[in-house]
Amino acid sequence: MEQFDIVVVGGGPAGATFARIAGENRKILLLDQNGRPKPCGGLLSPDAQKALARFEITLPKEILVDPQIFAVKTIDLATWKERHYQRMYINLDREKFDLWLRSILPPGVEQVCGRCCSIRRQGGGFLVGYSAGGSLHTVFAKQLVGADGAGSVVRSQCFGPLKTRRYVAIQQWFLAKDVATRPFYSCIFDPETTDCCAWTIHKDEYLIYGGAFAPKSCRAQFERQKEKLRQYGFPFGEPVKTEACLVLRPKSPKSFCCGGDGVFLIGEAAGFISPSSLEGISSAINSAVALCESLGEPDPHRAYFQKTRSLRWKLLLKNIKCLGMYQPFFRSLVMASGITSIRLFGEGKAR
Ligand SMILES: Cc1cc2nc3c(=O)[nH]c(=O)nc-3n(C[C@H](O)[C@H](O)[C@H](O)COP(=O)(O)OP(=O)(O)OC[C@H]3O[C@@H](n4cnc5c(N)ncnc54)[C@H](O)[C@@H]3O)c2cc1C
Repeated sequence: MEQFDIVVVGGGPAGATFARIAGENRKILLLDQNGRPKPCGGLLSPDAQKALARFEITLPKEILVDPQIFAVKTIDLATWKERHYQRMYINLDREKFDLWLRSILPPGVEQVCGRCCSIRRQGGGFLVGYSAGGSLHTVFAKQLVGADGAGSVVRSQCFGPLKTRRYVAIQQWFLAKDVATRPFYSCIFDPETTDCCAWTIHKDEYLIYGGAFAPKSCRAQFERQKEKLRQYGFPFGEPVKTEACLVLRPKSPKSFCCGGDGVFLIGEAAGFISPSSLEGISSAINSAVALCESLGEPDPHRAYFQKTRSLRWKLLLKNIKCLGMYQPFFRSLVMASGITSIRLFGEGKAR
């Protein structure tokens, strides 16, 4: 049976970053169930840009999509009010971004396309079982890193369920020419259908409409909100693709799990995602860096917990920002005040 210093389950931004920076001097297996692109808005926030810049990394233009975005149109469906705010995002093809992150790993990192299905402790390490190419395989890992996202198998098998808020994110892709709206990024609030948010983003010839909804009635509420948006001015036609996945929204220190006893969790598997914007790529990269820096310490679990303290606080404090964004009364006050918003040309004047 093949043995590794570390098996990393999940090759998204967290797992790929960790494998890239920890794989220079360790024998690492990166296991990812390739072929199922992660539903995502694919917007690289300033925090994520900064996290990449720490490695003097630049992005190849092949992973960018049209148009590039520097403002968001906020739409409140409760009041039919709109405001524009400056936001510096890079608009990406998320699938290509993940593939690119996995293409810049050190040659010593072994990459396998397979789905992790079992984890058992044995002899001071772990037997990690995965299915690939129709058969089951087992490898031995001295340490295990769970970077397998919101629905982490590593987390659920080793630590049980996380005490956090869970939503189902649903995204539909439309041909942009059928929707005929300006290619603008919008963030949508509609308390009747969700206490989280929704969005539209243009990606080359497509328009994505997506949102995060309570799991119980997610599809019905998604369709209900889509109908309201049609009335608002988004003439959605037939979708070319529908995708869905779990998304977490931390609200207390118990919403995070860094791991323990030889198993480390990074990225969304650890619960690291912004509860206000659902932005998670920066936390994925930053937690991967924190773990890599902790592995050489005498007590790596303690060190990792300490090094992610500021990240956990930062994410929890975003719940305060959520009040102004998600509480209908405060949101209407903030939007009515126009504070930090961009005044559109001709706004407020009779045309
Ligand atoms: C609809 C939506 C839109 C979003 N938009 C944005 C955005 O625009 N910008 C932003 O910064 N964040 C966004 N996020 C959040 C962001 O996508 C995540 O926080 C981020 O991808 C987390 O990175 P990760 O590496 O921890 O996990 P993931 O990106 O989820 O990667 C996990 C990887 O593990 C693999 N995997 C899972 N289970 C197994 C298994 N059992 N065996 C092997 N491999 C496995 C998956 O294939 C995947 O490649 C969005 C989230 C959603 C749901």
